[in-house]
Amino acid sequence: MNNTDTIIVAPIGDIPPWITDTIARDVGSFFGFSTRVEKVLDDILFAYDLERNQYHSTKILEKLAQNAPDDSIKIIAVTKEDLFIPILTHVYGEAQLGGKACIISIARLVADLEVEMINKGGRRIVKEAIHELGHTFDLRHCEDQRCIMYYCRRLDDVDRKSSQFCRYCNIFLNDNIRDLCG
Ligand SMILES: [Zn+2]
Ligand SMILES: [Zn+2]
Repeated sequence: MNNTDTIIVAPIGDIPPWITDTIARDVGSFFGFSTRVEKVLDDILFAYDLERNQYHSTKILEKLAQNAPDDSIKIIAVTKEDLFIPILTHVYGEAQLGGKACIISIARLVADLEVEMINKGGRRIVKEAIHELGHTFDLRHCEDQRCIMYYCRRLDDVDRKSSQFCRYCNIFLNDNIRDLCG
């Protein structure tokens, strides 16, 4: 029998270990699954767009899902590269709605990694990681500005919202996890 009960935190390229470790620790306790840091993709050059000088996140999500470890319930990838989807100038992350894979980019979330580490302890990174994982558990965007599923256009929005789901999103999440795990 295969147990699919682990959220994989997948660094792409050189990501400082404190970032992947922080995500693994916080999303694990948040969603109630075990976590593991493991490289899933060696590079994402296949998703590079020369004209935009950015990476198309949707293509990366497909490859992540194809290469998912057997015991993974979800995969959250972390990249330093700037991500886009064609209708937007950039995204902080993207997820397969109700699917397996999501990704966040730290390119815009942290201007200075060392300062971020000392002052904020990766709060923005963790918020966006939980937000994208929320989508993989089938959650849509929420209109409550304090809810972690609120859609953030700017860093101010990220900083303003809490690290929690609102009551409505929390009920939806727990239903989804129950369906998933039987
Ligand atoms: Zn979102
Ligand atoms: Zn909500």
